[in-house]
Amino acid sequence: TTITNHMPTAELQALDAAHHMHPFTAGAELAAKGARIITRAKGVWLTDSEGNRIIDGMAGLWCVNIGYGRKELADVAARQIEELSYYNTFFQTSHVPAIALAAKIAELAPGDLNHVFFAGSGSEANDTNIRLVRRYWEIKGQPEKRVIIARKNGYHGSTLGGGSLGGMSGIHKNGGMLAGIVHIDEPNWWDQGGDATPEAFGLARAQQLEQKILEMGVENIAAFIGEPVQGAGGVIIPPSTYWPEIQRICDKYGILLIADEVITGFGRTGNWFGSETFGIRPHIMTIAKGLSSGYMPIGGSIVCDEIANVIGGAGDFNHGYTYSGHPVAAAVALENLRIMQEEKVVEHVRDVANPYLAKKWAALTDHPLVGEAKLVGLMGSIALTPNKATRARFAGDQGRVGYACRERCFANNLVMRHVGDRMIIAPPLVITPDEIDVLIERAWKSLDECL
Ligand code: PLP
Repeated sequence: TTITNHMPTAELQALDAAHHMHPFTAGAELAAKGARIITRAKGVWLTDSEGNRIIDGMAGLWCVNIGYGRKELADVAARQIEELSYYNTFFQTSHVPAIALAAKIAELAPGDLNHVFFAGSGSEANDTNIRLVRRYWEIKGQPEKRVIIARKNGYHGSTLGGGSLGGMSGIHKNGGMLAGIVHIDEPNWWDQGGDATPEAFGLARAQQLEQKILEMGVENIAAFIGEPVQGAGGVIIPPSTYWPEIQRICDKYGILLIADEVITGFGRTGNWFGSETFGIRPHIMTIAKGLSSGYMPIGGSIVCDEIANVIGGAGDFNHGYTYSGHPVAAAVALENLRIMQEEKVVEHVRDVANPYLAKKWAALTDHPLVGEAKLVGLMGSIALTPNKATRARFAGDQGRVGYACRERCFANNLVMRHVGDRMIIAPPLVITPDEIDVLIERAWKSLDECL
Protein backbone atom coordinates (compact mmCIF):
# COMPACT_ATOMS: atom_id res chain seq x y z
CA THR A 1 0.00 0.00 0.00
CA THR A 2 1.03 3.57 -0.63
CA ILE A 3 1.58 5.62 2.50
CA THR A 4 -0.28 8.95 2.29
CA ASN A 5 -1.63 11.80 4.42
CA HIS A 6 -5.00 10.08 4.28
CA MET A 7 -3.95 7.03 6.28
CA PRO A 8 -5.25 6.82 9.85
CA THR A 9 -2.85 8.53 12.24
CA ALA A 10 -2.27 5.38 14.29
CA GLU A 11 -1.10 3.48 11.22
CA LEU A 12 1.32 6.25 10.26
CA GLN A 13 2.63 6.35 13.82
CA ALA A 14 3.20 2.59 13.83
CA LEU A 15 5.14 2.72 10.55
CA ASP A 16 7.10 5.71 11.80
CA ALA A 17 8.06 3.87 14.98
CA ALA A 18 8.95 0.70 13.05
CA HIS A 19 11.27 2.27 10.48
CA HIS A 20 12.20 5.85 11.25
CA MET A 21 14.93 6.79 13.74
CA HIS A 22 14.38 10.38 14.88
CA PRO A 23 17.04 12.96 15.80
CA PHE A 24 17.33 13.95 19.48
CA THR A 25 14.50 11.59 20.43
CA ALA A 26 14.12 8.59 22.73
CA GLY A 27 12.93 5.97 20.25
CA ALA A 28 11.12 3.69 22.69
CA GLU A 29 9.31 6.60 24.34
CA LEU A 30 8.21 7.92 20.96
CA ALA A 31 7.04 4.48 19.86
CA ALA A 32 4.87 4.23 22.97
CA LYS A 33 3.42 7.72 22.50
CA GLY A 34 3.23 8.06 18.73
CA ALA A 35 4.65 11.04 16.84
CA ARG A 36 2.46 14.02 16.08
CA ILE A 37 2.34 13.98 12.30
CA ILE A 38 2.36 17.28 10.45
CA THR A 39 0.74 17.13 7.05
CA ARG A 40 0.78 20.68 5.66
CA ALA A 41 1.63 24.27 6.56
CA LYS A 42 0.95 27.80 5.42
CA GLY A 43 2.27 31.05 6.85
CA VAL A 44 2.76 30.44 10.58
CA TRP A 45 0.18 27.64 10.74
CA LEU A 46 0.77 23.88 10.76
CA THR A 47 -1.92 21.27 10.19
CA ASP A 48 -1.58 17.80 11.71
CA SER A 49 -2.99 14.45 10.62
CA GLU A 50 -5.98 14.95 12.91
CA GLY A 51 -6.82 18.24 11.22
CA ASN A 52 -5.67 20.49 14.11
CA ARG A 53 -4.36 23.94 13.24
CA ILE A 54 -1.25 24.64 15.26
CA ILE A 55 0.55 27.98 15.52
CA ASP A 56 4.27 27.41 15.02
CA GLY A 57 6.10 29.44 17.63
CA MET A 58 9.43 27.90 16.58
CA ALA A 59 9.47 28.41 12.78
CA GLY A 60 10.10 24.68 12.44
CA LEU A 61 13.59 24.50 13.91
CA TRP A 62 14.21 28.28 13.89
CA CYS A 63 14.36 28.25 10.13
CA VAL A 64 11.11 29.04 8.33
CA ASN A 65 11.72 32.78 8.43
CA ILE A 66 9.36 33.81 5.61
CA GLY A 67 6.67 31.33 6.66
CA TYR A 68 5.47 28.12 5.07
CA GLY A 69 4.09 27.38 1.65
CA ARG A 70 5.34 30.25 -0.56
CA LYS A 71 4.56 29.40 -4.17
CA GLU A 72 7.41 31.56 -5.54
CA LEU A 73 9.90 29.20 -3.93
CA ALA A 74 8.19 26.12 -5.34
CA ASP A 75 8.26 27.69 -8.81
CA VAL A 76 11.94 28.60 -8.61
CA ALA A 77 12.82 25.08 -7.41
CA ALA A 78 10.85 23.50 -10.28
CA ARG A 79 12.46 25.78 -12.87
CA GLN A 80 15.95 25.17 -11.54
CA ILE A 81 15.47 21.40 -11.52
CA GLU A 82 14.52 21.50 -15.17
CA GLU A 83 17.33 23.83 -16.17
CA LEU A 84 20.23 22.46 -14.14
CA SER A 85 19.24 20.02 -11.41
CA TYR A 86 22.79 19.47 -10.22
CA TYR A 87 26.30 20.35 -10.92
CA ASN A 88 29.19 20.60 -8.51
CA THR A 89 31.45 23.50 -7.67
CA PHE A 90 34.62 21.42 -7.27
CA PHE A 91 37.63 21.38 -9.60
CA GLN A 92 37.23 24.80 -11.18
CA THR A 93 33.57 24.63 -12.23
CA SER A 94 30.72 26.90 -11.17
CA HIS A 95 27.12 27.73 -11.99
CA VAL A 96 24.86 30.77 -11.87
CA PRO A 97 22.78 29.94 -8.76
CA ALA A 98 25.91 29.53 -6.60
CA ILE A 99 27.55 32.62 -8.09
CA ALA A 100 24.44 34.76 -7.61
CA LEU A 101 23.79 33.56 -4.07
CA ALA A 102 27.40 34.08 -2.97
CA ALA A 103 27.35 37.60 -4.41
CA LYS A 104 24.02 38.36 -2.68
CA ILE A 105 25.27 37.08 0.68
CA ALA A 106 28.46 39.14 0.33
CA GLU A 107 26.29 42.21 -0.33
CA LEU A 108 24.15 41.61 2.76
CA ALA A 109 26.96 40.64 5.15
CA PRO A 110 28.70 43.42 7.07
CA GLY A 111 32.32 44.56 6.74
CA ASP A 112 34.66 42.58 4.51
CA LEU A 113 32.80 39.30 4.84
CA ASN A 114 32.83 38.88 1.08
CA HIS A 115 33.38 35.16 0.42
CA VAL A 116 31.07 32.20 0.90
CA PHE A 117 32.01 28.54 1.27
CA PHE A 118 28.78 26.57 0.88
CA ALA A 119 27.69 23.54 2.86
CA GLY A 120 24.50 21.55 3.20
CA SER A 121 23.78 22.55 6.81
CA GLY A 122 24.96 24.53 9.80
CA SER A 123 26.82 21.56 11.23
CA GLU A 124 28.76 21.07 8.02
CA ALA A 125 29.54 24.77 7.85
CA ASN A 126 31.02 24.65 11.35
CA ASP A 127 33.13 21.65 10.35
CA THR A 128 34.36 23.82 7.47
CA ASN A 129 35.21 26.55 9.98
CA ILE A 130 37.42 24.24 12.01
CA ARG A 131 39.42 23.50 8.85
CA LEU A 132 39.44 27.13 7.74
CA VAL A 133 40.89 28.57 10.93
CA ARG A 134 43.48 25.82 11.46
CA ARG A 135 44.53 25.95 7.82
CA TYR A 136 44.78 29.76 7.99
CA TRP A 137 47.27 29.67 10.85
CA GLU A 138 49.22 26.85 9.28
CA ILE A 139 49.72 28.88 6.09
CA LYS A 140 50.68 31.88 8.22
CA GLY A 141 53.49 29.77 9.66
CA GLN A 142 51.87 29.15 13.06
CA PRO A 143 50.66 25.54 12.76
CA GLU A 144 50.54 25.16 16.54
CA LYS A 145 47.60 27.60 16.67
CA ARG A 146 44.91 24.91 16.61
CA VAL A 147 42.81 25.29 19.75
CA ILE A 148 39.31 26.66 19.37
CA ILE A 149 37.64 28.16 22.42
CA ALA A 150 33.89 27.71 22.56
CA ARG A 151 31.26 27.84 25.30
CA LYS A 152 29.43 25.45 27.58
CA ASN A 153 25.80 25.11 26.55
CA GLY A 154 26.58 26.53 23.11
CA TYR A 155 25.19 24.67 20.11
CA HIS A 156 27.02 24.39 16.82
CA GLY A 157 25.48 21.29 15.29
CA SER A 158 25.71 17.56 15.75
CA THR A 159 28.39 16.32 13.38
CA LEU A 160 31.53 15.32 15.25
CA GLY A 161 33.01 18.76 14.59
CA GLY A 162 29.88 20.78 15.27
CA GLY A 163 29.03 18.72 18.33
CA SER A 164 32.56 19.20 19.71
CA LEU A 165 32.40 22.97 19.25
CA GLY A 166 29.07 22.88 21.03
CA GLY A 167 29.20 22.67 24.80
CA MET A 168 26.53 20.09 25.44
CA SER A 169 27.68 17.13 27.50
CA GLY A 170 24.86 14.92 26.24
CA ILE A 171 26.28 15.23 22.73
CA HIS A 172 29.91 14.83 23.86
CA LYS A 173 29.01 11.58 25.64
CA ASN A 174 27.41 10.34 22.45
CA GLY A 175 30.51 9.16 20.59
CA GLY A 176 33.20 11.41 22.02
CA MET A 177 34.65 14.68 20.79
CA LEU A 178 37.47 16.18 18.75
CA ALA A 179 40.74 17.19 20.36
CA GLY A 180 41.76 20.84 20.59
CA ILE A 181 38.40 22.35 21.51
CA VAL A 182 37.88 23.81 24.98
CA HIS A 183 34.85 25.46 26.58
CA ILE A 184 34.43 28.46 28.86
CA ASP A 185 31.27 29.28 30.83
CA GLU A 186 28.20 30.79 29.18
CA PRO A 187 26.76 34.27 29.94
CA ASN A 188 23.59 32.88 31.54
CA TRP A 189 22.86 35.37 34.32
CA TRP A 190 19.49 33.98 35.41
CA ASP A 191 20.84 30.53 36.28
CA GLN A 192 24.43 31.33 37.14
CA GLY A 193 24.74 35.01 37.97
CA GLY A 194 24.36 34.69 41.74
CA ASP A 195 24.46 38.10 43.46
CA ALA A 196 26.28 39.88 40.64
CA THR A 197 24.50 42.43 38.48
CA PRO A 198 23.89 41.19 34.93
CA GLU A 199 26.48 43.72 33.67
CA ALA A 200 29.21 42.65 36.08
CA PHE A 201 28.42 39.01 35.41
CA GLY A 202 28.53 39.48 31.62
CA LEU A 203 31.94 41.11 31.92
CA ALA A 204 33.27 38.35 34.16
CA ARG A 205 32.06 35.63 31.83
CA ALA A 206 33.68 37.35 28.83
CA GLN A 207 36.93 37.70 30.78
CA GLN A 208 37.08 33.92 31.06
CA LEU A 209 38.12 34.07 27.41
CA GLU A 210 41.19 36.09 28.31
CA GLN A 211 41.98 33.76 31.20
CA LYS A 212 41.72 30.73 28.92
CA ILE A 213 43.98 32.35 26.29
CA LEU A 214 46.61 33.13 28.93
CA GLU A 215 46.31 29.69 30.52
CA MET A 216 46.79 27.84 27.22
CA GLY A 217 49.14 30.35 25.58
CA VAL A 218 48.01 32.60 22.76
CA GLU A 219 50.47 30.80 20.48
CA ASN A 220 48.16 27.78 20.67
CA ILE A 221 44.81 29.50 20.11
CA ALA A 222 43.24 29.64 16.67
CA ALA A 223 39.80 31.06 17.29
CA PHE A 224 36.81 31.72 19.50
CA ILE A 225 33.33 30.69 18.39
CA GLY A 226 29.98 31.78 19.83
CA GLU A 227 26.37 32.31 18.89
CA PRO A 228 25.40 35.98 19.26
CA VAL A 229 22.46 34.59 21.24
CA GLN A 230 22.63 30.95 22.34
CA GLY A 231 19.58 29.41 20.71
CA ALA A 232 19.33 25.70 21.47
CA GLY A 233 20.90 26.45 24.87
CA GLY A 234 17.65 28.24 25.79
CA VAL A 235 17.69 31.67 24.10
CA ILE A 236 20.26 33.06 26.50
CA ILE A 237 20.47 36.75 25.61
CA PRO A 238 23.80 37.92 27.03
CA PRO A 239 24.17 40.99 29.25
CA SER A 240 25.09 44.13 27.28
CA THR A 241 28.66 44.03 28.58
CA TYR A 242 29.43 40.57 27.20
CA TRP A 243 30.08 40.91 23.47
CA PRO A 244 32.06 44.17 23.60
CA GLU A 245 34.46 42.51 26.03
CA ILE A 246 34.74 39.34 23.89
CA GLN A 247 35.47 41.56 20.88
CA ARG A 248 38.12 43.51 22.82
CA ILE A 249 39.86 40.31 23.89
CA CYS A 250 39.82 38.77 20.40
CA ASP A 251 41.27 42.02 19.01
CA LYS A 252 43.91 42.28 21.73
CA TYR A 253 45.25 38.73 21.19
CA GLY A 254 44.65 38.58 17.45
CA ILE A 255 42.54 35.43 17.58
CA LEU A 256 39.92 34.73 14.96
CA LEU A 257 36.30 35.33 15.88
CA ILE A 258 33.59 33.07 14.48
CA ALA A 259 29.98 34.18 14.95
CA ASP A 260 27.63 31.24 14.54
CA GLU A 261 24.67 33.00 12.95
CA VAL A 262 22.76 29.86 12.00
CA ILE A 263 19.79 31.07 14.06
CA THR A 264 20.51 34.79 14.39
CA GLY A 265 21.28 35.32 10.69
CA PHE A 266 18.72 36.59 8.18
CA GLY A 267 16.58 38.81 10.32
CA ARG A 268 15.91 36.94 13.52
CA THR A 269 17.20 39.66 15.86
CA GLY A 270 15.86 42.63 13.86
CA ASN A 271 18.96 43.12 11.71
CA TRP A 272 20.20 40.97 8.87
CA PHE A 273 22.76 39.48 11.26
CA GLY A 274 22.92 39.13 15.03
CA SER A 275 26.49 40.45 14.88
CA GLU A 276 25.04 43.82 13.88
CA THR A 277 22.59 43.76 16.79
CA PHE A 278 25.34 42.98 19.31
CA GLY A 279 28.22 44.94 17.76
CA ILE A 280 30.36 41.90 16.87
CA ARG A 281 32.94 42.07 14.06
CA PRO A 282 33.56 38.42 13.16
CA HIS A 283 36.14 37.04 10.71
CA ILE A 284 33.78 34.19 9.81
CA MET A 285 30.03 33.78 10.12
CA THR A 286 28.24 30.42 10.07
CA ILE A 287 24.92 30.53 8.24
CA ALA A 288 22.13 28.03 7.40
CA LYS A 289 18.44 27.79 8.35
CA GLY A 290 16.98 31.23 7.47
CA LEU A 291 19.22 31.46 4.39
CA SER A 292 16.62 29.39 2.54
CA SER A 293 13.88 29.76 5.17
CA GLY A 294 14.29 26.00 5.54
CA TYR A 295 12.83 25.29 2.08
CA MET A 296 16.05 23.59 1.01
CA PRO A 297 18.99 22.32 3.05
CA ILE A 298 21.80 24.82 2.62
CA GLY A 299 24.38 26.45 4.87
CA GLY A 300 27.77 28.04 4.60
CA SER A 301 30.62 30.04 6.03
CA ILE A 302 30.93 33.72 5.18
CA VAL A 303 34.64 34.46 5.25
CA CYS A 304 36.52 37.77 5.44
CA ASP A 305 38.93 38.95 2.74
CA GLU A 306 42.09 38.16 4.72
CA ILE A 307 41.25 34.50 5.44
CA ALA A 308 39.82 33.84 1.97
CA ASN A 309 42.88 35.36 0.30
CA VAL A 310 45.39 33.53 2.47
CA ILE A 311 43.69 30.17 1.98
CA GLY A 312 43.02 30.76 -1.71
CA GLY A 313 46.67 31.62 -2.32
CA ALA A 314 48.12 28.45 -0.84
CA GLY A 315 47.07 25.64 -3.15
CA ASP A 316 44.05 23.37 -2.87
CA PHE A 317 41.85 23.75 0.17
CA ASN A 318 41.14 20.04 0.61
CA HIS A 319 37.58 20.24 1.82
CA GLY A 320 34.06 20.34 0.35
CA TYR A 321 30.72 18.64 0.06
CA THR A 322 28.99 17.12 -2.97
CA TYR A 323 26.18 19.57 -2.29
CA SER A 324 28.32 22.67 -1.66
CA GLY A 325 26.39 25.36 -3.54
CA HIS A 326 23.74 22.91 -4.80
CA PRO A 327 22.01 24.78 -7.65
CA VAL A 328 18.43 24.07 -6.57
CA ALA A 329 19.10 24.96 -2.94
CA ALA A 330 21.03 28.07 -4.02
CA ALA A 331 18.26 29.23 -6.37
CA VAL A 332 15.66 28.78 -3.66
CA ALA A 333 17.80 30.61 -1.09
CA LEU A 334 18.30 33.48 -3.53
CA GLU A 335 14.56 33.76 -4.10
CA ASN A 336 14.00 33.65 -0.33
CA LEU A 337 16.40 36.58 0.13
CA ARG A 338 14.75 38.46 -2.73
CA ILE A 339 11.36 38.08 -1.05
CA MET A 340 12.79 39.11 2.31
CA GLN A 341 14.14 42.31 0.76
CA GLU A 342 11.09 43.06 -1.34
CA GLU A 343 8.68 42.51 1.55
CA LYS A 344 10.97 44.26 4.05
CA VAL A 345 10.84 41.28 6.40
CA VAL A 346 13.71 42.53 8.59
CA GLU A 347 11.95 45.86 9.09
CA HIS A 348 8.77 43.91 9.89
CA VAL A 349 10.66 42.06 12.64
CA ARG A 350 11.57 45.38 14.23
CA ASP A 351 8.02 46.66 13.86
CA VAL A 352 6.26 43.71 15.52
CA ALA A 353 8.97 42.79 18.00
CA ASN A 354 9.18 46.06 19.81
CA PRO A 355 7.02 47.24 21.43
CA TYR A 356 4.17 44.95 20.30
CA LEU A 357 5.51 41.51 21.21
CA ALA A 358 8.03 42.86 23.72
CA LYS A 359 5.27 44.28 25.95
CA LYS A 360 3.22 41.10 25.91
CA TRP A 361 6.32 38.99 26.44
CA ALA A 362 7.45 41.04 29.43
CA ALA A 363 3.93 40.82 30.88
CA LEU A 364 4.35 37.05 31.14
CA THR A 365 6.42 37.73 34.25
CA ASP A 366 3.09 38.50 35.94
CA HIS A 367 2.40 34.79 35.74
CA PRO A 368 3.26 33.00 39.01
CA LEU A 369 5.58 30.52 37.26
CA VAL A 370 7.57 32.99 35.16
CA GLY A 371 10.78 34.57 36.46
CA GLU A 372 12.53 36.46 33.68
CA ALA A 373 11.19 37.05 30.17
CA LYS A 374 13.81 38.02 27.59
CA LEU A 375 13.40 38.91 23.96
CA VAL A 376 15.53 40.20 21.10
CA GLY A 377 13.83 40.63 17.75
CA LEU A 378 11.71 37.54 17.31
CA MET A 379 13.56 35.17 19.61
CA GLY A 380 12.60 34.96 23.26
CA SER A 381 12.69 32.87 26.39
CA ILE A 382 10.97 32.73 29.74
CA ALA A 383 12.47 31.09 32.80
CA LEU A 384 10.06 29.01 34.91
CA THR A 385 10.78 29.10 38.61
CA PRO A 386 9.16 28.27 41.95
CA ASN A 387 10.63 31.49 43.44
CA LYS A 388 11.27 34.59 41.36
CA ALA A 389 13.16 36.48 44.06
CA THR A 390 15.80 33.80 44.56
CA ARG A 391 15.71 32.56 40.92
CA ALA A 392 15.29 29.07 42.39
CA ARG A 393 15.08 25.82 40.46
CA PHE A 394 12.28 23.32 40.98
CA ALA A 395 13.43 20.68 43.50
CA GLY A 396 14.86 17.54 41.88
CA ASP A 397 13.74 18.91 38.54
CA GLN A 398 15.34 17.81 35.27
CA GLY A 399 13.35 20.19 33.12
CA ARG A 400 10.19 18.36 34.19
CA VAL A 401 8.12 21.54 34.55
CA GLY A 402 9.35 22.86 31.21
CA TYR A 403 8.53 19.54 29.57
CA ALA A 404 5.03 19.57 31.08
CA CYS A 405 4.53 23.13 29.89
CA ARG A 406 5.64 22.21 26.39
CA GLU A 407 3.16 19.33 26.40
CA ARG A 408 0.37 21.71 27.48
CA CYS A 409 1.35 24.11 24.67
CA PHE A 410 1.21 21.31 22.13
CA ALA A 411 -2.19 20.19 23.43
CA ASN A 412 -3.32 23.81 23.01
CA ASN A 413 -2.06 23.86 19.41
CA LEU A 414 0.98 26.02 20.03
CA VAL A 415 4.54 24.91 19.31
CA MET A 416 6.90 26.28 21.96
CA ARG A 417 10.06 24.41 22.83
CA HIS A 418 11.45 23.82 26.31
CA VAL A 419 15.11 23.78 27.25
CA GLY A 420 15.13 22.50 30.80
CA ASP A 421 12.73 24.84 32.56
CA ARG A 422 13.06 27.58 29.96
CA MET A 423 10.31 28.00 27.38
CA ILE A 424 11.40 29.52 24.10
CA ILE A 425 9.93 31.02 20.95
CA ALA A 426 11.29 31.90 17.52
CA PRO A 427 8.26 32.21 15.25
CA PRO A 428 8.35 32.82 11.51
CA LEU A 429 9.48 36.41 10.96
CA VAL A 430 6.30 37.20 9.02
CA ILE A 431 4.09 36.67 12.07
CA THR A 432 1.37 39.36 12.32
CA PRO A 433 0.17 41.18 15.46
CA ASP A 434 -3.05 39.10 15.42
CA GLU A 435 -1.04 35.90 15.29
CA ILE A 436 1.16 37.17 18.12
CA ASP A 437 -2.04 37.61 20.15
CA VAL A 438 -2.97 33.96 19.51
CA LEU A 439 0.52 32.81 20.46
CA ILE A 440 0.52 34.76 23.72
CA GLU A 441 -3.01 33.73 24.63
CA ARG A 442 -2.17 30.04 24.16
CA ALA A 443 1.07 30.45 26.10
CA TRP A 444 -0.83 31.94 29.09
CA LYS A 445 -3.41 29.17 28.98
CA SER A 446 -0.70 26.51 28.88
CA LEU A 447 1.19 28.11 31.77
CA ASP A 448 -2.02 28.26 33.81
CA GLU A 449 -2.53 24.56 33.22
CA CYS A 450 0.93 23.92 34.73
CA LEU A 451 0.10 25.49 38.08
N1 PLP B 1 24.68 26.34 14.82
C1 PLP B 1 23.62 26.81 15.47
C2 PLP B 1 23.73 28.08 16.23
C3 PLP B 1 22.41 26.12 15.44
O1 PLP B 1 21.36 26.58 16.12
C4 PLP B 1 22.33 24.95 14.68
C5 PLP B 1 21.07 24.18 14.61
O2 PLP B 1 20.16 24.37 15.39
C6 PLP B 1 23.46 24.50 14.02
C7 PLP B 1 24.62 25.23 14.09
C8 PLP B 1 23.46 23.24 13.22
O3 PLP B 1 22.78 23.40 12.05
P1 PLP B 1 22.22 22.13 11.27
O4 PLP B 1 21.19 21.48 12.15
O5 PLP B 1 21.69 22.70 9.99
O6 PLP B 1 23.37 21.22 11.01
